[in-house]
Amino acid sequence: MNWYQMETDKVEETMNTDIQTGLSDKAVRERQKQYGFNELKEAERPSALLVFLEQFKDFMVVVLLAATLISGLLGEYIDAIAIIAIVLINGFLGYFQERKAEKSLHALKELSAPQVNVLRNNQWVKIASKELVIGDLIKFASGDRIGADLRIVETKSLEIEESALTGESLPVSKKVQPIHSENISLGDQENMAFMGTMVTRGSGIGIVVGTGMDTAMGQIADLLQSAETMITPLQRKLEQLGKILIVVALLLTLLVVVVGVIQGHEIYEMFLAGVSLAVAAIPEGLPAIVTVALSLGVQRMIKKKSIVRKLPAVETLGCASVICSDKTGTMTQNKMTVTHLWSGGETWQVGGTGYEPQGGFYKEEDEVDPKQIKSLHQLLTFGSLCNNAQLLIKDKEYVIDGDPTEGALLVASLKAGLSKEQLASQFKIEHEFPFDSSRKMMSVIVKDNVGNRYVITKGAPDVLLNNSESILWENKQQYLTEKYKSNVKEAIEKLASGALRTIAVAFKPLPENKQIGSEFEVEKDLTFIGLQGMIDPPRPEVKLAVKECKDAGIKTVMITGDHVITAKAIATQLGILPRGGKVLDGYALSSMTVEELEDIVDDVYVFARVSPEHKLKIVKAFQKNGHIVAMTGDGVNDAPAIKAADIGIAMGITGTDVAKEASSLVLLDDNFATIKSAIKEGRNIYENIRKFIRYLLASNVGEILVMLFAMLLGLPLPLVPIQILWVNLVTDGLPAMALGLDQAEDNVMKRNPRSPKEGVFARGLGWKVISRGFLIGIATLIAFMIVYHRDPNNLGYAQTIAFSTLVLAQLIHVFDCRSERSVFHRNPFQNMYLVWAVISSLLLMLVVIYYPPLQPIFHTQFIDPRDWLLIIGLAALPTFLLAGSLLSRKK
Ligand code: ATP
Repeated sequence: MNWYQMETDKVEETMNTDIQTGLSDKAVRERQKQYGFNELKEAERPSALLVFLEQFKDFMVVVLLAATLISGLLGEYIDAIAIIAIVLINGFLGYFQERKAEKSLHALKELSAPQVNVLRNNQWVKIASKELVIGDLIKFASGDRIGADLRIVETKSLEIEESALTGESLPVSKKVQPIHSENISLGDQENMAFMGTMVTRGSGIGIVVGTGMDTAMGQIADLLQSAETMITPLQRKLEQLGKILIVVALLLTLLVVVVGVIQGHEIYEMFLAGVSLAVAAIPEGLPAIVTVALSLGVQRMIKKKSIVRKLPAVETLGCASVICSDKTGTMTQNKMTVTHLWSGGETWQVGGTGYEPQGGFYKEEDEVDPKQIKSLHQLLTFGSLCNNAQLLIKDKEYVIDGDPTEGALLVASLKAGLSKEQLASQFKIEHEFPFDSSRKMMSVIVKDNVGNRYVITKGAPDVLLNNSESILWENKQQYLTEKYKSNVKEAIEKLASGALRTIAVAFKPLPENKQIGSEFEVEKDLTFIGLQGMIDPPRPEVKLAVKECKDAGIKTVMITGDHVITAKAIATQLGILPRGGKVLDGYALSSMTVEELEDIVDDVYVFARVSPEHKLKIVKAFQKNGHIVAMTGDGVNDAPAIKAADIGIAMGITGTDVAKEASSLVLLDDNFATIKSAIKEGRNIYENIRKFIRYLLASNVGEILVMLFAMLLGLPLPLVPIQILWVNLVTDGLPAMALGLDQAEDNVMKRNPRSPKEGVFARGLGWKVISRGFLIGIATLIAFMIVYHRDPNNLGYAQTIAFSTLVLAQLIHVFDCRSERSVFHRNPFQNMYLVWAVISSLLLMLVVIYYPPLQPIFHTQFIDPRDWLLIIGLAALPTFLLAGSLLSRKK
C-alpha cells in the first residue's frame, strides 16, 4: 500500500509516531543512525592532494621548475634547491588560502541551510532540515520549501507548487483524505508533499515518510552538483587584467633579458634571472588573495549579523545607492501593543506595555470593565478568535509565537480576561482563510455553543471598510452610510497619525447550512465592529543608520503594507521623509506605468499600503533611473522583487525559504541597521582589495624596473634570481594578506557609492601603482649604483644592498596603501596584523642577510651598519616623497 492510500492514523502507526507528541529524542537518534541525515548526496570534493598539485599547474611556475632543473644539471645545486623550496612554500601557501576560502564558503552554506518546524517530545522546535527523520511531524506555511517527503495530516487552504518535480508550474491544492487509486503520478498525490517543492499558500502539517535519497527528489536527482562558487565582477575583471599583466610582464622580462644579453651578460644567467623575474612580476597569487579577502570579509559580515548568499553581492553592496526597506520588524521592533480601541464613535485606552497581559481599560481617565461594554467586548473577542498567535513564557518573559500583530490582539483580549481556552470552549473554528499581504485580511468561520455561525474578518481598516455594508453603532447594526464611513475614516486617521498600526474587525452571520465559498465571497457584506490601534516602536538604532546612509549618498525608502498616515508618521520620526518628500500609496502605484513612476520615483521616500507585487515595479523604476537598488522582503510574493534588485535582502527570522533563496543577503536579526553595516563592510572589503592590488602591483613594477634600468645602463644584475623570488614570496605575501584584513578608513561612509562600472584602476589607483612602483625601482637602483661604484669588485655586497632597499621600500610603502589619501592619514598601529606581517618580513630579511649558513644560498653579505642609513633613507623616499608633495600641495 502507498502512503497516499492510507488513512492518516495508519501512517502514524506504520511510522511508529504520535501526531500529538511527535518523536522522542531516543527514537530520533535511532532513526538517524539507521537512515543517516536527510540530505541529497553531493558530488565529491576534490582531494587535498589535487588542490595542492593544482597550485603548480601555473605555466610560469612550470617554466621556473624547468629552468631550475637545467641549473641543477649545470651544477648550480644550491640555487636549484633553494628555488624549489621557495616554489613549494608558495604552493603550500596557495593551498592553505584556497582551503580556507573554500571552508568558509562551505560554512556559509550551512548557515543559510533551511530550517523546519518539527514536533519533538511534545514541543514544536526549529531544527535544520538535515536533522529530519521519518516519523517526524513538521509544520509548514506559505513560503516554506518542503524539507522531506510527507504524508499530509492537516491543511489550511494549503497549496504547493511542485514544478521542481512535476514540471507543472500551477500550484496544486492539497488535502488530507486518502486516495484509493493505484499507481498515480506524483502530481496527483494530493495528500502528499514532496521534498524541494514550495508552499505558495496556506499552511499544513505532515508526517515525514521519506528522507534524503529516499525521497522523490532523491530519486531523480542523481548527484546534486555542489553549487558553483560564483565569481564576482571584480574577480572577472582581475582575471582579464591578469591576462594582460602576464603579457606585459613577459614582454618587459624579455626586454630585460634581451638588453642584458646585448650588454654582454651570459645567456644562462639572463635566462634564470628572466624566468625568476617573470614569476615574481606576474601577479598570479592575486585572484587567490582576492578570494580570501572576500571570504574573510564575508565572515566579518556574519559577525555583524548578515549572511552573504551570493559572493558578487559583497561588491555590489558597496555600489548601493537606494535601500528599499520594509517597515514592520525591520525599521520597527515588531513588538506590538494595543493601546487604543475604537468602536461606534467611542475610544478607549489600554494600559500596560509589551506582551505582559496586565493592564486596564480606560475611557478618558476612568477605568472601565470591557466585559460590560458590548461593542468593546465583541471587538476584543473576535480579535482573539481570528488569530493564530500564542502567548508563551520563555525565560520568565512573555513572548509571542506567531504573528506579532495577532499577538497584540491576543494580549489585549487577555487583559480583558478573555482567555483562549475560554473562547475555545464557546466557539469552534470551522475554517480559516489565512492572512496574505495582498488581500490584507484574514478570516475564520466559527460556530458558537448555541449553533450560530459567523464569519470573522480582521485586516487593514480601509480594506475592511470597503467590504462592509453595515456597522455596529451604539450596540445596534446600522447601514454603513457615508456619514458613518467618514466617522470611521476620521478615527483611522487619528490613530494612524499617532504612528499606530490599525487593525479593523468585522463579522457577518453565516446560515447553518450555507457552503463555505471562496474568500472573495466570504469577506464581503460585513458588519464593521471597530478598530484596534497598536504601537510598534521604531528600533532605536535605525534613525542613526538612516543618517549614516544619507551621508554615504544612499537614499532610504520605506516600503510598507501599513496605512499611509502611520507610515508617514514613522518615516518622519526616523528621518527618512524629508520636507517636501513624496509619499505614494498602493492605489496610486497600481494605476501608474513603470515609466510614469520613473519620473517621480526620485522624490518618493515612502510607499504605503503597497502589496508585494508593487515592489518589482519600484525596483525597476529606481534601476531605470540609474540606481543600484537593495530591496528587502520576507514573503513568497516578495521573491520576484528580491531577485530583480541588485541586492536582494531577505529577513533571517521572519523570512520564508523562498525569499531567502531569491536573496543575495540574509539579515540574521531582520534589522535595517544591519543593512547599513553590511554596506559599510562591502565598501571596506572592496577598498581592501584595492589596497593589496595597489601594493602587489607597485611592488612588481618596482622589481621589473630596477632590473630593466640596470640592464639599460649596462650595469650588472642588481638582484639575483633567488632574491627576486624571495621578495615575491616573503615581502609581498604576508603584508598583502594583512591589508585584506584592514579596517575601514574613517570616511568610507562619507563618500558617495562607487559606480559599478568603475575599473580596477579607477580613482587614481593606476597612477599610484606606476608612480610608487617607479620610485621603488629608482630608489633600489640608486642604492645599488652608489654601493657598486664605491666597490665594483664586490658585486654581491651591492646586490645585498639593492635587495634590502627593495624589501624595505615595499614594507614602508605597504602603510601608504592603507589610505586613499596618504600615509599620514592613518595610524599605522591600527592594523596590528599588518604591523606583525611587516615585522616578520623584516626579521626574515635580516636572517637571510645575517645568518651565515643562508648567505651563500641567498647570495647575501653582512651589511655595514652605516649603509643602513642609506638603505632606510632611500627606501622611505618613494612613500614619503609623494605623500609629502601631496600634503604641501594641499596647504
Ligand atoms: P511591512 O510591509 O512594512 O512589513 P506590514 O506588516 O504592515 O508592513 P503587511 O504584513 O503586508 O505589511 O500588512 C498589511 C496590512 O494588513 C497591515 O497594515 C494590517 O492592517 C493588516 N494586517 C497585518 N497583519 C495582519 C494579520 N495577521 N491579520 C489581518 N490583518 C493584518
